[in-house]
Amino acid sequence: MNSRKPENLMRVSFPSRSVNESLSRSLAAAFVALADPTVEELCDIKTAVSEAVTNAIVHGYRDTLGVVYITAALYPGGRFIITIRDRGCGIADIQKAREPLFTTCETGERAGLGFAVMEELMDKVKVRSRLGEGTIVTMERTLKTRE
Ligand code: ATP
Ligand code: MG
Repeated sequence: MNSRKPENLMRVSFPSRSVNESLSRSLAAAFVALADPTVEELCDIKTAVSEAVTNAIVHGYRDTLGVVYITAALYPGGRFIITIRDRGCGIADIQKAREPLFTTCETGERAGLGFAVMEELMDKVKVRSRLGEGTIVTMERTLKTRE
């Protein structure tokens, strides 16, 4: 766990409506911007957060409406950690779900690349999930410190 206290912390929650995908991107960007990130860091974090929130909305709460919870924290040294949590259907096989091109979407609308994108853009991605209980995605990225 993080033994040191965060320098800054944000907790937000919102209903799992698709309009809130862009809200989550903007909120994450506004929080990270306070730590003076590079443009690339900001873009990467926005995209990764958006993938995780979209998953909560379209998979976790598929055909239902629930609440998406986000906690973002900035630790000394530029260590940024964000968790995206839903109390939706959960993931049966996490390892399989994380494989590139794996999707449970049967309409052809989804590429199965969300987790691959998160992993590519962030330093660490941790997924915890239980069927019927929900999913927690924790992502970490250490921002470059600039003089
Ligand atoms: P894409 O992200 O490319 O549009 P995708 O969402 O299917 O497609 P991933 O984001 O990699 O691909 O997710 C893989 C699979 O993991 C999903 O198809 C879904 O079955 C499962 N999954 C991901 N997140 C959740 C979640 N929060 N709740 C339930 N299932 C999830
Ligand atoms: Mg996805």
